[in-house]
Amino acid sequence: KAKVEARGGYSFFETGMDARAQTRRKIEFELRQALQHEVLRPHYQPLIGLSTGTISGCEALVRWPHPERGMVSPADFIPVAEETGLINPLGLQVLRRACLDAAAWPDPVRVAVNLSPLQFRVGNLLTTVMDALKHSGLPPKRLELEITETLLLEKSSQVIATLHALRALGVRISMDDFGTGYSSLSYLRSFPFDKIKIDQSFVRGLCANHELQAIVRSIISLGRGLGVTITAEGVETEAELNWLRSEGCHEAQGFLFSPGRPNDEIAAMLAAQCESADAAALRMASRV
Ligand code: C2E
Ligand code: MG
Ligand code: MG
Ligand code: MG
Repeated sequence: KAKVEARGGYSFFETGMDARAQTRRKIEFELRQALQHEVLRPHYQPLIGLSTGTISGCEALVRWPHPERGMVSPADFIPVAEETGLINPLGLQVLRRACLDAAAWPDPVRVAVNLSPLQFRVGNLLTTVMDALKHSGLPPKRLELEITETLLLEKSSQVIATLHALRALGVRISMDDFGTGYSSLSYLRSFPFDKIKIDQSFVRGLCANHELQAIVRSIISLGRGLGVTITAEGVETEAELNWLRSEGCHEAQGFLFSPGRPNDEIAAMLAAQCESADAAALRMASRV
């Protein structure tokens, strides 16, 4: 309890079910208001291409600036949003904002947006995505949608059809937190996707742990065999980065590079990256 309160979050661990239910109702009430006033904002965490060392995309991570609790973490309100159906308006706001922000980033840089399985249940996800792209002017190839293994559990033909339709638009599909769900390798055959994100629980402490190394090595080889991009999440040390690069991992994300940051800071980082690339190209050109 002390720990949760220390960082200003909601405590679910008060004295019993009543207090717990009350906390949930309070979050639901406040979240509904926050959505009405559109105060939730994505922060963006860079994804680094390991062959170039540059930012290839950024993941949108929703943040709730709360008047009393400071910045509330998604772990504290996404579950409530999913229980109450508020995840649909929330997901829509994040998607629209992320597409608008990313449309102003330099051209090849992509934005990745997390989708809850519930967003596939309402039936109009494809139209929602098409609208967000059209409204922002973001080219579909610069949008990545992150899904989790739980979505694939039901083997729903509607979900498969939606994923195919999204990919037909040019949008990329990423399998988030890979290895932590009730994974069955059979879904890798029936579901279309472009990227595997190795969950951070396999990455942290990897350098000192042979079991983790064996697991990550096999996920990389699986992904390469399937012809998809492999991204490692939660990279915190140079040693982890070097190991992943030498094993053929394509992309990395983690506090070693940057945590999630507000859009103005990310846009400045991307602009600086462009300038240094331009300067390098000029130096090359003036040499010939
Ligand atoms: P995720 O999609 O797996 O996102 C990665 C999480 O790991 C983020 O936490 C990020 O801040 C954290 N992280 C990144 N690098 C490191 C690292 O090097 N070390 C450590 N310790 N952590 C790292 P965050 O922002 O708290 O988000 C937690 C989860 O909430 C996300 O996990 C995602 O499942 C969910 N989420 C966030 N935004 C949204 C959203 O807009 N919609 C939905 N449906 N879910 C979201
Ligand atoms: Mg994610
Ligand atoms: Mg993840
Ligand atoms: Mg995760």
